[in-house]
Amino acid sequence: MRVDPSAVIERLRALDQRSGGRRVAWSAVWSGERPRLANDLAALPGVGVETDAAGNLWATLRGRRPETLVLGSHLDCVPDGGWLDGCLGVMVAAELLATAAHAGSPPCTLAVVDWADEEGSRFGHSLLGSSAAAGLLTSRDLAGLVDHEGIPIAAVLAEHGVNLQTVNDAGARLTWVGAYLELHIEQGPVLEAQGRSCAAVKGCGGARRMRLTFSGEAGHAGTVPMEHRRDPVRAAAEFIATALRRARDDGGLATVGELQARPGTPTAIATACHATLDVRHADVGALDRLEAAAVETAHAAAHDTGTTLGIEPLWSIDPIAFDSGLVADAIRHTDGRPALTSGALHDAAALARVGIPTAMVFVASRAGISHSRAEDTSDAALHTAITAFVALASSTMQRLEAGRLARSPG
Ligand SMILES: [Zn+2]
Repeated sequence: MRVDPSAVIERLRALDQRSGGRRVAWSAVWSGERPRLANDLAALPGVGVETDAAGNLWATLRGRRPETLVLGSHLDCVPDGGWLDGCLGVMVAAELLATAAHAGSPPCTLAVVDWADEEGSRFGHSLLGSSAAAGLLTSRDLAGLVDHEGIPIAAVLAEHGVNLQTVNDAGARLTWVGAYLELHIEQGPVLEAQGRSCAAVKGCGGARRMRLTFSGEAGHAGTVPMEHRRDPVRAAAEFIATALRRARDDGGLATVGELQARPGTPTAIATACHATLDVRHADVGALDRLEAAAVETAHAAAHDTGTTLGIEPLWSIDPIAFDSGLVADAIRHTDGRPALTSGALHDAAALARVGIPTAMVFVASRAGISHSRAEDTSDAALHTAITAFVALASSTMQRLEAGRLARSPG
């Protein structure tokens, strides 16, 4: 199967001109854009279009076998987001479906999905539509969420025909799904630094996040000798230096994104120091070790400095590996070089988590910039990545036709 990459880029530029940076999920701009896509796809021969119980938009072309290859991503964006994040994966899927529909009945069923609310920009819950379809959400997870104006999520979703009590009914769509593929921008600087235009992605990394509070004793900056101090800032500094070095040495990532000394006066030893730590790793064992080492380091720093320590867990998600066979195909169809692990979460992670064979392709991001109007990728890199992705989709359809892809129990 062949797709003209220029046609995909044209779709993306037109979309950006109409609604670029303004398609926040559940907004009027976002919900105004989706019927355009739906009408466009519904006009193709043999294609049926539906919206599921979680607000995901599906276009399906029945093939010679019911096993379904799903291609997709998300049209929604963060406020002032770029022209590629999410919509690249939807538009390449739409163009591929159009090509397949005009060519007649494909070897297996082909579906395009635009997942609802990947970004979680309004209610803070990322991967909403894909998680609901994968049966990973309960209405209880969502019930208490409100936007920045205090409007509850239930009321907003109801305006879009989505009932919180029945979001998981979207899972019915996945019964025949044999594989899921997603093309996305990298949103980081690695591919550009390696001089690559695109790469296979072998999974999404996991994260552990916690808040730490070191508590000590206030004192005058000019009178208390250093050896008498119980300084929580010194404790935090020792902790941070060690935790960050440890993550680097273990091939992980560690970020202290928040750091505050209280009360925060230049002439006083602080009474407390608050820090958050976010650690990430592609391997669950290594991630658990990094988390345990961070906790141990924090206790040691508190002990060294005569301070006390409180730790509050904030968030945790395990890494997820994609299907090794599809990842090997993706490597072959891209540049043959090693696959990346995604540090960011994607809808593909939700599907992989329930045992659907999944893979992704990343295209390089200029200077690694994303979630910004400055987000960009060269046309040349897009051409290479789109061509590779379409080849991967074709080989995956052949695997499905031959019954050579199996779902794992998830
Ligand atoms: Zn995205």
